[in-house]
Amino acid sequence: MTTTTIAIDMDVPAGVSVGEYERIDGGHAFHVSWELPDNLCCETCQRESRLQLVEKNKFLSIRDLDLWGKPSFFVYQEVYHRCPSCGHRQSLLPPFKRRDVKYTFRFEEQVLVSLIGSTAEDVAVRLGIAAETVERIVKNRIEDAKAKQIDPQRKIERLGLDEISLRKGHKGYATILTDLTNGERPEILALSKGRDEAAGRACLEHLSAQQRSAVRWHHTDMSAAYLKACGVHLPNSQSVIDRFHVAKKLGEVADDLRKKTIEPTSEV
Ligand SMILES: [Zn+2]
Repeated sequence: MTTTTIAIDMDVPAGVSVGEYERIDGGHAFHVSWELPDNLCCETCQRESRLQLVEKNKFLSIRDLDLWGKPSFFVYQEVYHRCPSCGHRQSLLPPFKRRDVKYTFRFEEQVLVSLIGSTAEDVAVRLGIAAETVERIVKNRIEDAKAKQIDPQRKIERLGLDEISLRKGHKGYATILTDLTNGERPEILALSKGRDEAAGRACLEHLSAQQRSAVRWHHTDMSAAYLKACGVHLPNSQSVIDRFHVAKKLGEVADDLRKKTIEPTSEV
């Protein structure tokens, strides 16, 4: 068999490097590593110390974005730190995921974006994950959003406010706020529970008063609740009613996240 080396450009989360690639059944595996911290605080005794590395010969695999229509996975070696004070051993959390989940942060974002204009069940089927996983991602993101402050220096001209529905029968809803200022790279800013005016306002209240008055356009569906919330909180913004703008835009971006430049250098 002849082999060919193909170079692809992919974007990786900050501080992460990709070692090798492996084709697996129905997908792609990328072996990744990340920069380890010099010092660490012990979970048990709370004392800080130099990193005392304990490497285990165990590899973990977590879901990342799709590549060429197939799921890709980050594979990494599990590393531990042993606290020199109390002997407690703790695993080091990679920068690309949260604790106790099997997917990257950016996979979470892909799930959220896919939910705009789709149900949790549809998204679960499309991405090959459990509906419970979809709901857990939304729940975690809503929790995160409560504590997260948007950088007050961030300049935002165009916003999107959309509802996402979690369960069949439309019992569970959340509201998602996206920054559409850079049409090429829309970003999720905030999430809140519900789809009423209060939920819309809760999202918008993550922005400073100054940021809100600098917004010039807001994209929403026909929902009177969101229009009202924007009317109150975005004094200088015009409404653009466009049901699936975000899903459309963000969907394109998700497909495009990995710019593929193929440079075959064949060795025959
Ligand atoms: Zn300790």
